[in-house]
Amino acid sequence: MLALVKTTAGPGLSLDTVPDPQPGINDVVVRVRKTGICGTDLHIEAWDPWAAKAITPPLVVGHEFVGEIVEVGSNVYDFHPGDMVSGEGHVVCGVCRHCLAGRRHLCAHTIGLGVGRDGAFAEYVALPVTNIWHHWPGGDEEVAAIFDPFGNAVHTALSFPILGEDVLVSGAGPIGLMATAVVRHAGARHVVVSEPNPFRRELAMRMGATIAVDPRERDLGDVMRELGMVEGYDVVLEMSGHAQAMRDALGVMAHGGNMAVLGIPTEEVALDLNEIVFKMLTIRGIYGREMYETWYKMTVMLQSGLEIRPAITHRFGFRDFEAAFAAARSGDSGKVIMDWAQ
Ligand code: NAD
Ligand code: ZN
Repeated sequence: MLALVKTTAGPGLSLDTVPDPQPGINDVVVRVRKTGICGTDLHIEAWDPWAAKAITPPLVVGHEFVGEIVEVGSNVYDFHPGDMVSGEGHVVCGVCRHCLAGRRHLCAHTIGLGVGRDGAFAEYVALPVTNIWHHWPGGDEEVAAIFDPFGNAVHTALSFPILGEDVLVSGAGPIGLMATAVVRHAGARHVVVSEPNPFRRELAMRMGATIAVDPRERDLGDVMRELGMVEGYDVVLEMSGHAQAMRDALGVMAHGGNMAVLGIPTEEVALDLNEIVFKMLTIRGIYGREMYETWYKMTVMLQSGLEIRPAITHRFGFRDFEAAFAAARSGDSGKVIMDWAQ
C-alpha cells in the first residue's frame, strides 16, 4: 500500500510503498478514506526536538482518519466489512488500574497511533477493535475524519459546567475553533476568543464567538467589562500552549473559576500561583478524549445541531501531501483534510 512514512531521523516525509497491515485476532483493518493533519504530524514532519525523542523511524504517520472496514480479526464480532469508522488514536494498555476501572483516558501506558505505532496516513490502517468508533449512517465524512481533534475540543470544553457561563477560549487553532462552537452549543453566555491570527479570529466568529480579539492589542479585562461581565471569566479553555496566554487568562478569571488546559507548551511556564490560591481556581489538564463518553457526546451534539464544518478550510489529495502540510503549517488555515480515496 501507499503510505506517508518518516523513513529516517530527520525532516520530511515520503510517500512510499509499504506492506499492508496484518490484523491480529482482535484488530480491524480500515481502508482509509479521509485524514486530518494534526500539529503532532507537523512536529514529526519537521523533526523537532520532541519528535526526535518520541519517534523511531521507519514509521507511518497520522492518526486522524475515517474509513471503511475491509477485514476483521477472528475474535471480532461487532464490526463488519463496510462499516464506516474512525479510530481512537490512543491505544491503552488495558491492564492498569485506570484501564480496569474504565477510565482509559487516564492510562499511563498509552501508545499513540502514528507516533508509537504505524498510523493512518496510508491506504490501510489496523487498530484493536477497542479503538474503533462506528459512525452513524449518513454522517458527514469530513467531520468524521476529524473526530480525534474534535474529541480534544469536546473533552476540554465539557470538563466544567458551561450553561450560562462566560468562557474565554485562548487560541483559535483548529481545536480552539471547534471548542468555540461546542461551548456555544452547550449554552455559554459570552464566548471570548483570544487569538493573534486574523484569519483564525474571523473563523472563530463563524464558529459562534461573541467576540474574537488580538491579545497583543486588546486587554482581556477591558473586553470583559465592555461585555458587561462583572466578576471575570468563569471558564477558560487554554488551547494555545503559550505561556503569556495562560498568564493573561489567570489574571481575568472569576473567583472559583475553572481552567481546562489542553495546549502543550514547548517549555516550562512560570505562573503566579497567588492567582490560583486567592481566586481558588481549579486547573485541570486534558489529554486525548474520554473513551468513549467524549465520542458519544460528539455524535449526539452533531445530531442535535452542532456545526463544526466551518473549521475545515483546506482539502488535498494525499499525493499533494507537501501542499497539505504547508497549508496546515501556515497558520492561515483551520483543519486540513487529505483524501485517500482518489
Ligand atoms: P495550533 O497550534 O494550531 O493553535 C494554537 C493557536 O494559539 C494558534 O492559532 C496561535 O496563533 C494561538 N496563539 C498563540 N499565542 C497566543 C496567545 N498569546 N494568546 C492566544 N492565542 C495564542 O493548535 P491546535 O491544533 O488547535 O491545538 C491547540 C493546542 O493543543 C496545541 O498546543 C496542541 O499542541 C495541543 N494539543 C493537545 C492535545 C492534548 O491531548 N492535550 C491534543 C492535540 C493538541
Ligand atoms: Zn492502562
